[in-house]
Amino acid sequence: MKCELISVGTELLVGDTLNTNVQYLSRELSLLGIRVCYHTTVGDNPKRLEEAVRIAFNRSDLIITTGGLGPTQDDLTKEVIADIFHKKLIQDEKTKEDLLQYFVNREFTMTPNNLKQTFIPETAEILFNPVGTAPGILMKEQGRIIIMLPGPPREMTRVFQEAVLPILKQDQNQLVISRYYNLSDIGESAAEDRLLDLIDTQINPTIATYAKMGEVLIRITANGNDENEMNALLDKYEEIMLQRFEDNIFTFSKESLQETVCKLLLEKNISLATAESCTGGLIAALLTEYPGISKVFGTGLVTYSNEAKINLLGVKKETLEKYGAVSEETAREMCENLQNISKSMINVSVTGIAGPDGGSDEKPVGLVFIGICYDGDTQIFKYHFNGERKVVQQKTANKVFHLIRKTIVDKAK
Ligand code: AMP
Ligand code: MG
Repeated sequence: MKCELISVGTELLVGDTLNTNVQYLSRELSLLGIRVCYHTTVGDNPKRLEEAVRIAFNRSDLIITTGGLGPTQDDLTKEVIADIFHKKLIQDEKTKEDLLQYFVNREFTMTPNNLKQTFIPETAEILFNPVGTAPGILMKEQGRIIIMLPGPPREMTRVFQEAVLPILKQDQNQLVISRYYNLSDIGESAAEDRLLDLIDTQINPTIATYAKMGEVLIRITANGNDENEMNALLDKYEEIMLQRFEDNIFTFSKESLQETVCKLLLEKNISLATAESCTGGLIAALLTEYPGISKVFGTGLVTYSNEAKINLLGVKKETLEKYGAVSEETAREMCENLQNISKSMINVSVTGIAGPDGGSDEKPVGLVFIGICYDGDTQIFKYHFNGERKVVQQKTANKVFHLIRKTIVDKAK
């Protein structure tokens, strides 16, 4: 089934609003095994919208529009599409009741223009919108399906999940099973490179990679009718994934590295403390995003200056003078001394040059030392990260999460 998405709204064309609807729908549809072949964006202009719908109708089996269903004069999607197919707009009593109730519930006064949203093209199906005033609409014309969804992402996703997905799943009459592999410590192009032989020939299953900073999520999706066969196929791919990415897979889900590490710490009841210099508390902040982490994370120091490193962590003045604040030796003293203070199982230290200033030939911007002292064993890691200040800090934090996980896993071997 060929699908086309039409985003309606001048705000999208002039760059005021980022078109997140199209990304969301493309992902959801491809998960269902529906091929999204075209993305079209058009402003709130009836003539051009008509043209876009006509073109889509000629080349696609499923057309999904978002936007232009609201109460204002520039909301024209439904009117234009009804016109193309010579359908009258008829007021729907149930939609009207829902609309009035919506305003009663929120104690708002309804302006008359809202009633526009209760008019639906004759023979169309109404897709209930539980969080807004404009319902979605489904029309079947000449063997094709046209679905109109409201523009606000919160409303669009709810109508899609609750009203559209069940219909599409039924219509597809096909099973879709996806497996996820989330990788750390590898870039997207390197990950893709290792999968090139599979990606080049992919038909079923399909392989997609999504990169976030510090993470590459790989999704492998099988389509078919026989669940056992599909799972056997996915098992084969899983074997390949494990062979090629053994050290990188941190979870078999979409969960982030940060979440995985926090879960792991809590599960194994491993306490953690941090002493940060160049990341300025970023690692502690990321840890505390996880609810309940206080059970294992109690101390997060920011020792930015030499004085703080001396006074709070007991780093020796001579060490700082002889080797510098950004050095293996300082990182070592930071994490080892932190252990005495925090009494935690894992003690992490970070010291580096985030830039843009402060670099030298010997110690360039992006040089970072990470110390991990786990149960008395200390390991120091040296990196050179590229990028501007914020990127260096974020990459350092990602690496710390990767190393914490790796240290725990290695120790358990
Ligand atoms: P509309 O239904 O056309 O009145 O859209 C209402 C609001 O939804 C717009 O002002 C945007 O803020 C938002 N919106 C519409 N289309 C999109 C889209 N494709 N992606 C993200 N937001 C959107
Ligand atoms: Mg609009």
